[in-house]
Amino acid sequence: MTLELDILPLSSWMPETPYPLLIAGPCSLETEEQALSTARELAKDPRVHVIRGGVWKPRTRPGSFEGIGSIGLEWLQKIRTETGLMVGTEVANAQHAEEALKADIDILWIGARSTTSPFVVQEIADVLKGCDKVVMVKNPMTPDLSLWMGAIERLSAVGLKKLVAIHRGFSPYQETKYRNYPGWKTYIELRRSMPNLPIICDPSHIAGKREFVGEISQKAFDMGFDGLMIESHIDPSCALSDAAQQFTPSDLAKLIDKLVIRQQNTDDAEYGNKLDQLRSRIDALDTELMELLSARSEIVTQIAQYKKANNVMALQINRWSQMMNTRLGVAGKLQLNETFIKILFQLIHEDSVRQQTELIDKED
Ligand code: PEP
Ligand code: MN
Repeated sequence: MTLELDILPLSSWMPETPYPLLIAGPCSLETEEQALSTARELAKDPRVHVIRGGVWKPRTRPGSFEGIGSIGLEWLQKIRTETGLMVGTEVANAQHAEEALKADIDILWIGARSTTSPFVVQEIADVLKGCDKVVMVKNPMTPDLSLWMGAIERLSAVGLKKLVAIHRGFSPYQETKYRNYPGWKTYIELRRSMPNLPIICDPSHIAGKREFVGEISQKAFDMGFDGLMIESHIDPSCALSDAAQQFTPSDLAKLIDKLVIRQQNTDDAEYGNKLDQLRSRIDALDTELMELLSARSEIVTQIAQYKKANNVMALQINRWSQMMNTRLGVAGKLQLNETFIKILFQLIHEDSVRQQTELIDKED
C-alpha cells in the first residue's frame, strides 16, 4: 500500500544549505548556561540547521532526570534569537504541545514511547490542528510500521503539512552492540509506503555509544535518509541523560567531516550498463533460490506424510538444534552473516513445521 499524503518537501521550510537536514543539540536541556553554550558552539558549523533540546524527558524508569520543564522553552527561544537557527523539542502530551505552541517553538517531535500510543498521538494532533509547525514523528518502540504510519496519518488529518519521520531504532529483542536495534527494513517499508514523506535518522539513539554513531550515520546516508538528528552536549561526561552517546560540538564537527554524502543516482551510461548486468544476475539467483525452496518444500511434504503414517510429531527439537548448528557452521565457512542465517533458517523451519502440522492434521 502506498499513501501520498499532502506533505511538503524539506526544501519548502528548511534553510537553504548544501548539507542534508542536520539537527544537533543536547539530549536534555539542563541549565541555561549548558543550553546556550552548546548551541553557540554548534551554530558555528554552517551544516547545523536546527538546535534540539529535550525539556520533558520520557525516562523508561523513574528516578532519573525527567527534564527541566517549561523554563527550557525560554532557553530555546534565546538560542533561536542568538543563533538565528530553528529550535526543536519533544512533546509527549497535549499540555506539552500547548506550551510549545505558545512558546512558538519551530519543530515539535513525538518521541518513540508516545508514537506507541494512538491516544497520545491523537491528543497531540488535536492541539496542533491547523498550525504551521514542523512536526516530526519518531518510530514506535517496536518495529510496527502501521503504528508509525498511523501517527503520521493522524497528524496529516488535522492539516499538518510539514511532517517528517525520524528513525531511531527499536527496542532490541536480542543482544546487539547498539542500544536499539537498527531495523532498517522498517525504514525501507516506510519509504515505500509513504514516498513523499521526508525521513531522517537519529543515529544517537540507535547507537547508544559515541563510538557507533559515525557508522550508523554513514549507513543512513548510504540508504537515502534526508538528514540526521545527533545529540551534542558541551560537556558530555556531565550530561544528566544519555551521557555515553553525546558529542562535544567540536567532536560532532569531526564526525560530520568524515561522512560521505551519496548522490541518489547517476546518468553515467557505463554505470547504468554495469548495474543492469549485475542486477540481472541477482534476478536469476533469486529465481534459483526460490526453485530450491520449492524442491525443499516437496521433501518436507514427504517427511510429513511419513511422520503421519507413523504417528510421530511434526516438531523434533533435537533435529532442529542440530540443523541450526550445521547451518551456522556452513555459514561461517561461506562468510555469511551469522544473524542473517539464523533468522533465515528460523523462518524456513517455521514454515516447514507449519506445512507439516497442516498435513498431519488434515483429515484423510
Ligand atoms: C530523545 O530524543 O532524547 C529521546 C528521548 O528519544 P526517543 O524518543 O527516540 O527515545
Ligand atoms: Mn536522548
